[in-house]
Amino acid sequence: MRDGFGRTIDYMRISVTDRCNLRCRYCMPDGVECVPMADILTLEESARIAACSALLGIRKIKITGGEPLVRLGCCRFVRMLKDTRGIENVTITTNGILLEQYVDQLVEAGIDGINISLDTLDGGLYKALTGGGSLKAVQKALERTLKACESRHIPIKINAVSLDLKDLAAHLGCGYEGPGWRELLTLAKAYPIDVRFIEMMPVGYGRQYRSLNHGELLRELQALYPGLEKDDSVHGNGPAVYYRIPGFLGSVGFISAIHGKFCESCNRLRLTSQGYLKSCLCYEDGKDLRQILRGSGTEEEKDRMLLAAMERAIKQKPMAHCFEHPEMMTECGNMVKIGG
Ligand code: SAM
Ligand code: SF4
Repeated sequence: MRDGFGRTIDYMRISVTDRCNLRCRYCMPDGVECVPMADILTLEESARIAACSALLGIRKIKITGGEPLVRLGCCRFVRMLKDTRGIENVTITTNGILLEQYVDQLVEAGIDGINISLDTLDGGLYKALTGGGSLKAVQKALERTLKACESRHIPIKINAVSLDLKDLAAHLGCGYEGPGWRELLTLAKAYPIDVRFIEMMPVGYGRQYRSLNHGELLRELQALYPGLEKDDSVHGNGPAVYYRIPGFLGSVGFISAIHGKFCESCNRLRLTSQGYLKSCLCYEDGKDLRQILRGSGTEEEKDRMLLAAMERAIKQKPMAHCFEHPEMMTECGNMVKIGG
C-alpha cells in the first residue's frame, strides 16, 4: 500500500519483547521497567496483525525486540509468519548471545536472514558496552550461524552502531587501544557477510552518544582501500548503501539516518511488543492495535477494525523524521520500548 506521500509500505518490524539479556549503554543501561506479560501481545496476536498487514501489502517482516531470542517461542513465531499468505521474507535482528542455541531452529523454521548486532571485537570493551555480555558467546554463535546458513544461502549481517570506540572505552574506564570501527571490517574480509555501520539516532539513551560521521568513515575507507567500489546489488529490505572491497568476502554498508536522510524511500512500520503500531521512530503517534484485538466485537469485525487502523497509520505516516531537531521529536521512549 502507498502512504500519503506515495511511498510503498511493504516492510514491518515486529518487536516480540521489551526484555533483553544485555544492557547496552546507548539502549537500556539500567534495564527497562518490564510491563507484565499479560500486556505483551501473544505470538498469535502478533501473527494476526502480520496477516492483516499482508492484506495491505506488507511483504517483509523483521523480528526484533528487546532481544527477540529471550521470547519463548520466537522460532515458532518465525514459522507462523512464514506460513502467512503474502509474507515473503522473515528476518531477525539479535544480539547473538542466545543464537548458538537457536540458530538451527531458526533455519528450520525458514528464517530468510539473520542480523547480529556487534559494536566491537574487543572482549573487555564489549563487556563494558553491553553491561556484562560475552563476546566469546557471540563469536561462537557467528561460527555456528555461518555453518547453519551456508547451504541455504541465508544472508548474515553484522550491525554496528557507529561510535568512537576509543572515546567510549575511555568514558567506560576500560583500556582499549584498538583500531576503532575498522576492526569490524575483518569480519567482512574473512566471511561472506555484510558489515553495516548504523548512525546513532537521538532516540532514548542514544541521545547521549555522538555518532561517527559516515562521510568521514567512507573517505577513510577509500583511502585504506583504493579499489573500493559501490555495490548496487540488492542486499536486504533497508536503506543501507554498500561498498565492495577487493579481496573481501562480504560488503561494507552504511545506514545513515541522519547525514544521509532516506525518509523519501522509507518503506516501514513498527509494531511494539504491546501492539502499538508506529509509522516513524521519531514521533509517538500510532495506533493501539491491542485495544482492538482485545476489545469487543466479532472476530470478523476486529479484523476489519485492525485493517482500518493500519490503513490509517500508513496514510498518516509522516513525511520525514526530525532527528536533526531533537527538540521537535515527540517520541520519548527508548529503542526497547519502540522496538528497535
Ligand atoms: N536486541 C536486538 C539487537 O541488539 O540486535 C534487537 C533490538 S536492538 C534495539 C536493534 C538495533 O538497534 C541494535 O543493532 C542496536 O545496536 C540498535 N540501536 C539501539 N539504540 C540505537 C540508537 N539510539 N540509534 C541507532 N541504533 C540503535
Ligand atoms: Fe538489548 Fe539490543 Fe538494546 Fe543491546 S541494543 S540492550 S542487545 S535490545
